[in-house]
Amino acid sequence: MYDYDLLVVGSANADLVIGVERRPAAGETVLGSDLAVHPGGKGANQAVAAARLGARTALLARIGDDAYGRLLLDSQRAAGVDTVGVLVGGAPTGIALITVDPSGDNSIVVSPGANGRLTPEDVRAAAGLFHASRVVSAQLEIPLETVVEVVRSLAPGSRFVLNPSPPRPLPAEVLAACDPLIVNEHEAKVILGGVAVGDAEVGGAAFGDRPEDWARVLLAKGPKSVVVTLGSQGALVASAEGVERVAAVKVEAVDTTGAGDSFTAALAWKLGAGSSLPEAAAYAARVGAVAVTRRGAQESFPTAAEVEAR
Ligand code: ADP
Repeated sequence: MYDYDLLVVGSANADLVIGVERRPAAGETVLGSDLAVHPGGKGANQAVAAARLGARTALLARIGDDAYGRLLLDSQRAAGVDTVGVLVGGAPTGIALITVDPSGDNSIVVSPGANGRLTPEDVRAAAGLFHASRVVSAQLEIPLETVVEVVRSLAPGSRFVLNPSPPRPLPAEVLAACDPLIVNEHEAKVILGGVAVGDAEVGGAAFGDRPEDWARVLLAKGPKSVVVTLGSQGALVASAEGVERVAAVKVEAVDTTGAGDSFTAALAWKLGAGSSLPEAAAYAARVGAVAVTRRGAQESFPTAAEVEAR
């Protein structure tokens, strides 16, 4: 009855990566490695992750009428994502300028570009996609007012999944629609108001240091369910039925980029296919675990057969 298992509404970026010995100071020039260009952005990543697992997936996003936009369309189509909802123009394609130093630390400048021009009107114009999709997922690399419109556009009976990244406080209307809200530790603390955006200092007296407590307090803010991802420690799921731990899959992690995106996509797809929240999260943890054993974001996302094979 649905044409799509998952509609992802979100960002699409080109990641421009250069390795440097050290970062330039103001007014200084340093030489770096050859440029590497990768398709990225949380929306584009989630769509590719879901499609690679076999989910019938559509992406609603905005890219520029430029070479990076075409790169993003190509990577979506190669993974099997339906790009009928990818809008073109209004601003250059979103870009992440990334320098990586020898210790592996990233410094990133993001130009949202066309992502910032994905409007509530674009969402209303895509009503057909919403009606054709069993599950809708979003992140926060597009305007918050657009995410609000996504929530208002959900078809009766469809399910909404939100990864509030980059995190900021959310309106009650958005929180109430989430089933689940999926957060890592940092996102949990921002949503709970315990830490300013960009503040590295985490852990707050208001809600203690136990992820189980954050999950409960988050749930009390209105979402129908909550998932807290805990990196190599796995995840927790919380709903009216209680709080449950999801064990991590033990792997040798080489690059955790995109782990959260692949986890969210896998979870959304499995929920739509009828799995319970703990079952879907256990599967998503297996998908995230495969993704961290490989370099890159979209390049690291496994097929369903690769997940089964582990
Ligand atoms: P984010 O990328 O949003 O910070 P996490 O790092 O919590 O998200 O990763 C998402 C999920 O991917 C985790 O809940 C876990 O299931 C899986 N994962 C991440 N890192 C590892 C790891 N080192 N070993 C095994 N699984 C991992």
